[in-house]
Amino acid sequence: MSKVKYYYDSETLSYKKIERRKGRRLGIIALSIVGSFLAGFILLVIYLNIPQIETPKEKALKRELKNMKLQYGLLNKKMDQIQDVLANIEDRDNNIYRLYFEANPIPEEQRKAGFGGVNRYKNLEGFDNSKLIVETTKRMDILTKQIVVQSKSLDEIAKLAKAKEKLLSAIPAIQPVKNEDLSRIASGYGWRTDPFTKVRKFHYGMDFTAPRRTPVYATGDGRVIRADNRSTGYGNHIRIDHGFGYTTLYGHLYKYNVRRGQKVKRGDIIGFVGSTGRSEGPHLHYEVFKDDKRINPINFYYGNLSPEEFDKVLEKAQQENQSLD
Ligand SMILES: [Zn+2]
Repeated sequence: MSKVKYYYDSETLSYKKIERRKGRRLGIIALSIVGSFLAGFILLVIYLNIPQIETPKEKALKRELKNMKLQYGLLNKKMDQIQDVLANIEDRDNNIYRLYFEANPIPEEQRKAGFGGVNRYKNLEGFDNSKLIVETTKRMDILTKQIVVQSKSLDEIAKLAKAKEKLLSAIPAIQPVKNEDLSRIASGYGWRTDPFTKVRKFHYGMDFTAPRRTPVYATGDGRVIRADNRSTGYGNHIRIDHGFGYTTLYGHLYKYNVRRGQKVKRGDIIGFVGSTGRSEGPHLHYEVFKDDKRINPINFYYGNLSPEEFDKVLEKAQQENQSLD
């Protein structure tokens, strides 16, 4: 309830009500509203212009942010180092390991491919340090992928190496008769005089002259596919399938030391020198087949001969003489 005010009118000698004018009152209200806005604005301008005073919490947060940036920098440096080491491994992988095992090198783009499609880094965007964090995360992702690719490549190499190891132990790589047991190498692969007909004829194997009962060795790992005398001229003979297209034949044996179907390792004694079949005297007739074609066995003795010994064998084997068949 507003107070009613009066004034004394000396003319009428009576009290009269003071009538307040409405317009004036509204003016005062408006003025005070404008006034307080103005005051507020001035205070805000002053506040924004005086140097910021940091609260301890703000100080701690700033320190933490600085430290985080520093740590990200260190992480990136470490990634540089990992990148260098990985580049070195990749280089050896492409240019030595994969080359050696005849695998195609893995192209750079495939090794360093990022992740296409959806933006994997969307949740990292929209912050002051987004660029730093997104870049670092991207690098980390690419590094991880590179390591996975490299690891798969090494698995492949290990498999190839295993196969190569098998191939290396399968290839007929040694002489079937020990050098010290040899009387002489009677005849090599090539044109020779037939001991019986005295006609020039291609001799498809190598003859090793040695006393009867001298051990004959399997020249590579494999399986005995024949051990019989049902092949014309060879007498008691053994054939070993080495896989990878290689087969070896050992002829004119005195005795077998293996049976058909038996698995043999390089160096196992498979039989003994004899003179069965079309043979002029005790010797081993030895043949090497690659993909069913007879090839010169001389190229395979690197397994147990020194270079000097090999030269001697080569010289003897190349002499065009009479074979023992
Ligand atoms: Zn022969």
